[in-house]
Amino acid sequence: MPGKKILILGGGFGGAKAAITARSLLPVEHEVTLIDRNARTYVCGAMPLLIVGEREAEKTSRSLGRLAHRGVNFIQSEIKHLDLASKTVRTERGVLEYDYVIVGLGAEYNWDAVPGSRDAHSFYNIDGARRLRRRLSRFRRGRIVIAVSSTPYKCPPAPYEAAMIMRWHFKRTGASKDVDIHVYTPEDAPLPVAGQSACEELALAMAKRGISFHPKAAVNEISKDGRSAAFTDGSSMDADIVITIPAHRPASVAVEASLTGGKPWVPVNPATLETSMAGVFAIGDLNMVPMATGRPIPKAGVFASTEGDLTARVIASRILGTEPPPAFPGEGLCYLAYSGTQSGSVSGRFLAPGRPDVKFTRPSVSGMRAKERFESDWRRFRI
Ligand SMILES: Cc1cc2nc3c(=O)[nH]c(=O)nc-3n(C[C@H](O)[C@H](O)[C@H](O)COP(=O)(O)OP(=O)(O)OC[C@H]3O[C@@H](n4cnc5c(N)ncnc54)[C@H](O)[C@@H]3O)c2cc1C
Repeated sequence: MPGKKILILGGGFGGAKAAITARSLLPVEHEVTLIDRNARTYVCGAMPLLIVGEREAEKTSRSLGRLAHRGVNFIQSEIKHLDLASKTVRTERGVLEYDYVIVGLGAEYNWDAVPGSRDAHSFYNIDGARRLRRRLSRFRRGRIVIAVSSTPYKCPPAPYEAAMIMRWHFKRTGASKDVDIHVYTPEDAPLPVAGQSACEELALAMAKRGISFHPKAAVNEISKDGRSAAFTDGSSMDADIVITIPAHRPASVAVEASLTGGKPWVPVNPATLETSMAGVFAIGDLNMVPMATGRPIPKAGVFASTEGDLTARVIASRILGTEPPPAFPGEGLCYLAYSGTQSGSVSGRFLAPGRPDVKFTRPSVSGMRAKERFESDWRRFRI
C-alpha cells in the first residue's frame, strides 16, 4: 500500500492528541506531520492560578519538539494557506501535500471587536497572564472588573474561577476588604451549560465571597486609559484593573479556506468531525458540534483532545480498511478552582438528548489534586 500523508495543523490539545494517536495506529510508511507556529504550548487551565503566583509558566507548558520521540514529524512554522482543491498547505517553510488533513488551529481573539480591549488586561494567553500577574502582585486596594465580550468563549467557568481565586489571593495578602471584584457576562446566569442548580450554587459562592455578578451585560468598550468599561445594558463602571475575556473567532487559516462556509464556526459531521470536504477534519475550538439545545458544545481542551483522538482513529480505519470507531461521545470534565488549594469540576454528557446531562462537583482538596494530575498528564502528552 503506498504511504499516505496525514497533516495536522495546530499542536494544541486537539492536534497533539491526533498526531500521537495517528502515529500509534499507522505503520511507518504513512507520514504523520504536525505544524504549529510555536515550539511550546501552554495549558490555559492553569492561567487563573498563574495570575496570582500559584503556577509557574515553565511548569504549564510542553515542547512540541518532544513529539519526535513518538515518531511524529514536527515543523515549527506559520501556516499561511490551506488549499482544499490542490490538497496542499503553504507554510513559511514550504508547501506540503496531504491525503488527510486535521485542522486543529483553535480559536483566535478578535481584539478589535471591543474598542480598548487590546490594551486592557486578559489572562486568555500566556503573555497577557504574565502581565496581569505583575499588576496583581502590586495591587493592594481598588476595583477589578472581569468582563466577557461575547459567547462562545473558551472554558465557560474561567471568569468565575479567576474572580474566586483572586478573592482567595487577596485574603492571603490581607487586602481582601479593600478589593472590590465584579464579573460581567452577556449570559443570563453563570455557567448556564451546567444547568440551573449549578448556576445557583456558583452565584451563591460568588456572593459569599463578596464578588458582584452582573448578567446580561457584555463589555462593548474600554476607555483609552483602561480604567473604565461600558456594557451592552447601557451601564458603565470605573475600575483600577479591567480584565476582558476577548471575543473569539475561528483561526483565520480555516476561515480563508472557506471551511466555515459562511457560518460563525466550522460545521462538521458530529460523529466523525469531518467537514463537508472528504478527508478534511476540523477539531477543537474552531468547530461547531451542536448540543441538543442548539448551542455549541463548550470550547474546552478535554473535548479538543477527544476529538483529535477520534479523527485519528477515523483516518486510520479508512487507510487500514478496519471498522470505524464509535461516534464522538461529547463526554468530558473541566476543573473549576475556587482557590489555590480547592477545586470543583463540571462534568457530564454534553451531547445527551434533550439537554446536557451535567454534574457540578463542589470544591475540595482532592479536587485540586485531580486538577494538578490533569496538568501533569497534559505536560506528558497523556491528554
Ligand atoms: C483561561 C483559560 C482556561 C481554560 N481552562 C480549561 C480547563 O480547565 N479545561 C479544559 O479542558 N479547557 C480549558 N480551556 C480551554 C482550552 O485551552 C481550549 O479549549 C483548547 O486549548 C482547545 O484546543 P485546540 O486544539 O482546539 O486549540 P489550541 O489549543 O488553541 O491550539 C491551536 C494551535 O494552533 C496553532 N496555530 C493557530 N494558527 C496557526 C497558524 N496560522 N500557523 C501555525 N500555527 C497556528 C496555535 O499556535 C496553537 O498551538 C481554557 C482556556 C482558557 C483561555
